Amino acid sequence: MIQSSVPVTRFAPSPTGYLHLGHAHSALFAWRSARAAGGRFVLRIEDIDVSRCRPEFEAAILEDLAWLGLDWETPVRRQSDHMDDYGAALDRLEAQGLLYPCFCSRAEASRVASAPHDADRPALYPGTCRKLPLAERAGLRADGRAFALRLDSGAAAARTGPLSWTDRRRGRIAADALALGDVVLARKDIPTSYHLAVTVDDALQGVTLVTRGEDLFESTHVHRMLQALLDLPAPEYDHHALLLGADGKRLAKRDRAATLRALREAGKTPAETRALAGFADGRVDAR
Ligand code: GLU
Repeated sequence: MIQSSVPVTRFAPSPTGYLHLGHAHSALFAWRSARAAGGRFVLRIEDIDVSRCRPEFEAAILEDLAWLGLDWETPVRRQSDHMDDYGAALDRLEAQGLLYPCFCSRAEASRVASAPHDADRPALYPGTCRKLPLAERAGLRADGRAFALRLDSGAAAARTGPLSWTDRRRGRIAADALALGDVVLARKDIPTSYHLAVTVDDALQGVTLVTRGEDLFESTHVHRMLQALLDLPAPEYDHHALLLGADGKRLAKRDRAATLRALREAGKTPAETRALAGFADGRVDAR
């Protein structure tokens, strides 16, 4: 895989609603991080969960970003068009013996035995199906029970050895292979997952600098491990602070007033909207 000598950044929204100011902040952040260094900016539509995504939201994303003053390379990568790429990555992990089928329901998967856990951190999957006797596993498969595929994170860590990544804000970070536990890499209903698709796509799109909100910081531990297991290059990362609403809470897609559409309809200009998105000078080309 050829790494670009100029930075390549990306913005990767899911078409499950209209973009709001938080998305505008992320998109402008990525766009400027590339352009300030003479680099390239690409887009990706993260629509693996087709039941939650709608074509009109995808069209609205492109329209709203263009209105905001951004431009990007084409073609735009749409994840649902590339399921084969994720399947090939799963095959490689399977061949290394690092995946196991998980038959647990959502409720079972989030029930953590008795271990107390940090309230700020989501409960990790307790590894129930990793410990299933092989005969039981084969029986459930023979019965046609639906299963997800999980990464055996302990085995994966043993294979990769210590890993790290560079974060522009926090410096060199030691990857914690167990940070999110045995993550799902293929869902019961969809033959991939956020973690797998994002890692494969960032490499296939030649992304050298992943910029995204700090709410996704913990995911990078998993992505770094997947890069090592799949022989993909390790990009640099920049996890930016989230833009908060007037109430001090993070913006959500349901906050209709903060959508770029609503702001445009209320008469805001792109420059005013960029300023509201945290780029105070309102200029899209500012260095
Ligand atoms: N699609 C994700 C989202 O909408 C972003 C993924 C990423 O930046 O890694 O939040």
